[in-house]
Amino acid sequence: MACPDQPGRDCPLCPRLVAFRERQRAAHADWHNAPVPSFGGADARLLIVGLAPGLQGANRTGRPFTGDWAGDLLYETLIGFGFAAGTYDERPDDGLVLLDTRITNAVRCVPPENKPTTEEIATCRGFLAATIAAMPKLRAVVTLGKIGHDSAVRALGLKPSRVPFSHGGVHALGAVTLFSSYHCSRYNTNTGVLTPQMFRAVFAAVRRHLDGA
Ligand code: SF4
Repeated sequence: MACPDQPGRDCPLCPRLVAFRERQRAAHADWHNAPVPSFGGADARLLIVGLAPGLQGANRTGRPFTGDWAGDLLYETLIGFGFAAGTYDERPDDGLVLLDTRITNAVRCVPPENKPTTEEIATCRGFLAATIAAMPKLRAVVTLGKIGHDSAVRALGLKPSRVPFSHGGVHALGAVTLFSSYHCSRYNTNTGVLTPQMFRAVFAAVRRHLDGA
């Protein structure tokens, strides 16, 4: 049977992440504490692929990049380039809507210390591949960070060595063009690895690509 694009709430496939999930459910009964579903419609032309839910971000709120630092820069940037509308207020009921855009993660469950294992990334890739396959109008993929990038490349049926990660990298892969960026994590922005200007430049290129397509 083909893999669905959304795992069930109690997906059992990664034992370490299941155990971590159970501990979080016991400690925080009011948190989402489950695989985080993609945000945005499957008819979008743009897919953004992050790494994994943050413990107190998407794992708590249930919406990708919502509730922790990474969402501040991401949603501000998306609104600036017309890929989202409304006001981002760190809550899934803040009314923010995505426009022609979908956001997902390479790994749907929160990993301890934000570090999924190679095996967990590979296991969850079935859902990422199904997510991509379920988007008939897909024209652009933005990958945030090398791990998400490499998993998205594999999910597209290609080898990462043929599509290497670099910030600002652009790869035309037939109908889909891949744009890569450093991850908009607090660490990267605090250390200056990624500035808002660098991040905006990636989405400016995506905007030009989709407007010209
Ligand atoms: S990370 Fe993905 S494959 Fe692993 S348990 Fe969570 S949803 Fe299932």
